[in-house]
Amino acid sequence: MSQSKLPIDILKNEFGYVSFRRGQEPVIDAILRGDDVIGVMPTGAGKSLCYQIPAILSKSTTVVISPLISLMKDQVDALVQNDISAVSINSTMEWDDVVSTFNLVAEGKVKLLYIAPERFNNKSFLRFFHSIKVELLVIDEAHCVSQWGHDFRPAYLNIAPVIASLSKRPVVAAFTATATPEVQEDIKIRLGLISPLIIATGFDRENLFFQVEHPDIKIDFLLNYVKKHRSHSGIIYCSTRKNVEEVCSKICRTGISAVRYHAGLSDEERKSNQEAFISDEVGIIVATNAFGMGIDKSNVRYVIHYNMPPNMDAYYQEAGRAGRDGLPADCILLFGAKDITTARYFISQIENTDIKKADYKKLRVMLNYCHSEKCLRASILSYFGEEVEKENCGSCGNCKSEAELVDITESAKKILSSVYRMKESSGGRNFGSSILIDVLRGSKKAQIKALGFDKISTWGIMKEESVKSLRRKVDFLISENFLQTEDTEFPVLSFNQKSIDFLNGDSKLVMRQKGEKRIFKDSSLTSEKLPEGTMDEELFEILRSLRKQLSTEEGRPPFFVFSDKSLTAMAIAQPTNRSKFMAMPGVGEVKLEKYGKDFIRVIKSWKENKLY
Ligand code: ADP
Ligand code: MG
Repeated sequence: MSQSKLPIDILKNEFGYVSFRRGQEPVIDAILRGDDVIGVMPTGAGKSLCYQIPAILSKSTTVVISPLISLMKDQVDALVQNDISAVSINSTMEWDDVVSTFNLVAEGKVKLLYIAPERFNNKSFLRFFHSIKVELLVIDEAHCVSQWGHDFRPAYLNIAPVIASLSKRPVVAAFTATATPEVQEDIKIRLGLISPLIIATGFDRENLFFQVEHPDIKIDFLLNYVKKHRSHSGIIYCSTRKNVEEVCSKICRTGISAVRYHAGLSDEERKSNQEAFISDEVGIIVATNAFGMGIDKSNVRYVIHYNMPPNMDAYYQEAGRAGRDGLPADCILLFGAKDITTARYFISQIENTDIKKADYKKLRVMLNYCHSEKCLRASILSYFGEEVEKENCGSCGNCKSEAELVDITESAKKILSSVYRMKESSGGRNFGSSILIDVLRGSKKAQIKALGFDKISTWGIMKEESVKSLRRKVDFLISENFLQTEDTEFPVLSFNQKSIDFLNGDSKLVMRQKGEKRIFKDSSLTSEKLPEGTMDEELFEILRSLRKQLSTEEGRPPFFVFSDKSLTAMAIAQPTNRSKFMAMPGVGEVKLEKYGKDFIRVIKSWKENKLY
């Protein structure tokens, strides 16, 4: 591809950003050199810019294949907002409109054309496609081509044959957030990529703060949190419709507005609730996992899981909807013992025994995450097979916890001995944690007596401890692998080499003090630099309402005008002329012309009023 302008100029002038993020430059360079690429970058990393910049530099139209109409629409709207000519063709369009779009492209007036993969099933589209010059073909959400991934989409298999049928092969660039090596290899083969450069920046999302809480009363924790974060936008995930209803109405009763979202609602209500959330009309959406696919709201400041999801894949995907704008965001999981019962019940209903077994195993990993005292980020990354550079990230709930460490060596030995004695006295049987805890607390239940456990030496050796505290210790021993559990609905506990070594050895075991974690966060974690200084909250609110007003006038969500990050920067630097305003992140030439005057006027008058 020939070019006179540099990618960095486009980044600055068209998109208003100062510097490239990790991975963007090498991908752009490879495309411009004419190499195929696979870009594997986490959600929110900025994959779109990797192909949009080459598309802007190219003389021909870049065709982008994307799986969802809503995703296409958002991308096209955002580009048009920056005066970059982008269009999409989708199944909801009238034929006349499709034809006029064809004409626009044929006349060379379109930089980016977004289509769904199903377009390639359509004869007239294919005829059109063969008639135009395409130098770059992009496949977004490329994991959809792979049966390994969870979003397999058969129409993605049409792409390779169509590429092969072109007289001149374009550069092919594939993007995904799903990083496993199997999926990467599958993408390469099934899309027919030619020695692609693979750029994987890893799974980590530095701006996300991970936290697990075991609150006594979840709803209290939640209400307290949302009250403290009134001006922020958040998603609250629940495992059942019933919980969605309850949580949503409890939030509303405090005077904070929230909307609900689950499969039991009418299409209209779901649609209007989603829209109200995306356009910042309401700050909170309470939802089941039905909500989220294809939602691109960049300023979600927190995702709270009111119930534990059944596995890490689901958790990371849902939690990952926070902080797509790169600003700090919270991902909090509220754990309760009941969540385990619910999750096990759902899995027990699965008929296929292989899948069932695999799901119990995934649940175990999720539980370990909930009970772990180690770095949460490290545990997520290692689950996804990523090498963990630092054992402590220094920015998750566990790394930041101020709770004291307590020595639980004695308790752990008592618990493990009891598992051993129970097995010994029952002819080699293993038991679940409830019976174990009954024995340790010296219960006189009929079942305990019938098993003869009231006669063994560990009966009642921890009778002064509460069930809750014992349960926490047992869960901790499981998560640290001192006790083994099976992957079944009612798992029993058993010994392994680690438990034997620990019982016979003299190593110490420490655990964090119980109770709500006191966490001290600093906000130094932003990956892209905001201006130096502190943000004025009042000015931020004023700018937010100006943004709301402008976006309503345009009939678009507020973050199409400016992201929260741009507003934050403005509320810090308080720019009062065009060149200072241009230096704000997210402000390019187009947005400077479009909104500069209004924002500068408001900032000026706010500053003047403050002088009195
Ligand atoms: P994804 O990788 O999930 O497709 P997007 O392409 O949607 O991510 O980008 C997420 C957000 O990051 C968008 O708001 C985008 O404008 C912003 N972004 C992308 N690149 C940069 C950059 N170099 N500097 C600042 N913001 C960026
Ligand atoms: Mg994307």
